[in-house]
Amino acid sequence: MTLHTSPARTATDPRYAGGAAYMDGTFMPLGEARIPITDWGYRRSDVVYDVVSVWDGCFFRLDDHLTRFRASMEATRLVPRETDDEIRSMLHRLIALSGLTESYVAMDCLRGAPLPGTTRHPKNARPYLIAFAIPYVRLVPAEVIERGTHAIVASAVRIPDASLDARHKNFHWADMTSGLFEADERGADMPILLDAAGNVTEGPGFNVFVIRDGRVATPDSNVLGGITRLTVIELCAELGLPCDVRPVSAEELRNADEILFSSTSGGPFGVTRIDGRILSNDRPGPLTNRLREAYWAKRKAGWHAEPVRYDLV
Ligand code: PLP
Repeated sequence: MTLHTSPARTATDPRYAGGAAYMDGTFMPLGEARIPITDWGYRRSDVVYDVVSVWDGCFFRLDDHLTRFRASMEATRLVPRETDDEIRSMLHRLIALSGLTESYVAMDCLRGAPLPGTTRHPKNARPYLIAFAIPYVRLVPAEVIERGTHAIVASAVRIPDASLDARHKNFHWADMTSGLFEADERGADMPILLDAAGNVTEGPGFNVFVIRDGRVATPDSNVLGGITRLTVIELCAELGLPCDVRPVSAEELRNADEILFSSTSGGPFGVTRIDGRILSNDRPGPLTNRLREAYWAKRKAGWHAEPVRYDLV
């Protein structure tokens, strides 16, 4: 399947050509955005975030991303001054400034720096929002998506939900980062992390689906509620593919007919090797391809799409 791209608009102001940023009420070119080094968002990873995509000049499932972002913020007691409606308008304006028609749009709520004269308790900081829009990013290069991703089961165990609820999108990525280096050292593209009981969780930036004998399954716990995961579950229903949300063991993963990853950064895409074992003749499998093609065809047709307000510059 060829990845579609439409011609980029041009940013109205050339300073925004590389992307646009928003910091606590102010818009600026991407390269001008700076975080204070005393901010706990940086010093303690005390930050939650979300990422939505724009394709063909439309946001995908923006309502779902805003709902998830608000839930992450509230659960972490990180509440900025902007309402959801204000965040929505701000995101539209960011894309309008950048002129991008295919974009990776990140929004973060940071704890902030301790206010002068207060104790070093996080309640003494004022959380604030930053966001940026840059050209669309894929987790792996387009050629790897076409060829199929090579994955490993990482030796790092995923941080448990009991310590950090994976549903709240966060920057605690030490396990993912070590998995990425391990994948590299073992000649693979991506790691998949297990929980302490040996069940599949997720990977750096994606949820995992296994397919065996025509049945699809995805882990039910210790995972982010991925918006693309939700989309794949809905697509399975539309395509008549049974899809279970339940514990998935490492053994099932290693013996799967097909494995599929799902992410805002690349949509659904296939795995062709797991710990060196070749799946589906080393090409993305037939059900993976059906789900992937349905995803992009429906997006192109305007499914869950919210057109960007390019007039908001
Ligand atoms: N799991 C993790 C840890 C992620 O960071 C992401 C996305 O960045 C996902 C899953 C996929 O979620 P979504 O489909 O909403 O992009």
